[in-house]
This record gives sequence, structure tokens and C-alpha cells, in this order.
Amino acid sequence: MTRACIDCCGPISARNRSGRCKSCNLKWVQSSPEIEQRRVAAVRASMERPEWKAKQRAALSHYHKRKIATDPVYRQMMVERGRRVHGDGIGNRIRPAGSEARARAGQKITDAKLAWCPPDKRDQYRQLVYNRHFRASEAKAIILDQIKVDQERFHNRLSPFERQEMALQKGAGLTEGYSKVTLGGVRRA
Ligand SMILES: [Zn+2]
Repeated sequence: MTRACIDCCGPISARNRSGRCKSCNLKWVQSSPEIEQRRVAAVRASMERPEWKAKQRAALSHYHKRKIATDPVYRQMMVERGRRVHGDGIGNRIRPAGSEARARAGQKITDAKLAWCPPDKRDQYRQLVYNRHFRASEAKAIILDQIKVDQERFHNRLSPFERQEMALQKGAGLTEGYSKVTLGGVRRA
């Protein structure tokens, strides 16, 4: 017996547990504040775990120590960064608050800090941090999660042919015995 999605009445499989088709379920998940709250709570809880914090700290300090010991260019960079941040503040004396140069410098810092965040998501990120008072790390996790959902949604909208074409562009090979014309038997990228 075929079942119908409770939102769009499209067909869903007998094993479907949400009662909604893939795209309706995604819409529902994204529109439900309750689910968003649960997701935020889960992110928060996982980052509160002492093991997670210790692991983060250890990874970072291990990386820095090794890099500083083995890479003179990196070492010099860290020294200079330390001087810039904790030095005599000369940078800001020649760029007084409100000046164009200060604004440009600020923009550069923002760009570097938010390099992980696509420009079209930056307003949303700031809103999470400044209006809704999430911690920076939480807001980042939320945005990254959203990017993942967006990508999945984009991928789900593609036809099998388009997916195979994308896989080929990413360097997937063809399995033996298939012709390039039909795009049959593309390996996963
Ligand atoms: Zn549906």
C-alpha cells in the first residue's frame, strides 16, 4: 500500500517514519522553532562536554607547539602577531577611531575571522551572536549545520543525471564497461 505525505500528499515509502516526504520533512524541520531549539541545545550540550573542550585545547596547543618548533616562518608570524595585539598600540594611534583606515582595518579583521562563513550568511551569524546572544562557537555550529542542510537540499533537487555529472566534475571515475555517453556506473566522488 502506498502512503501519502501529510503536507503535499506525494507518495512516501512504507518505511517512512516522519510521515512527510523528504523535501516536506526538511521544510518542517527548518520551520519548527521547537526542533531548532532542540538542535541548539544538542550543539550546546556537546560543546559543554569537558572531553570535547579538552580535546579542542589539546589539538590547538599541540598544533601550535609543533608548528612553532618546526616552522620558522610561522614562528616569526606568531611573534609579530603578538606584537601587533599586545604591543604599544601604535597601529590604532595612527588610525584613530572613526577614521576610514580604522574601518578598513576592522573590515579586514572581520573578513579573516569570518572566513569560514559565506558572505550571504554573515548577517544571520551576527544576528545569532548579537541579538540572540549565542556564543560565537554556537552560532558557528548553527550556521555550518544550516549550510549542510542547504547543500543536501540542493543535492536532493538534482536529477540522478546531474548528480552523476557533478560527481564526474569532482573527479569520480567510471566503473568498467560503462559508456561515457550514458553516464552509467559513475563512482562516488
Ligand atoms: Zn511532501
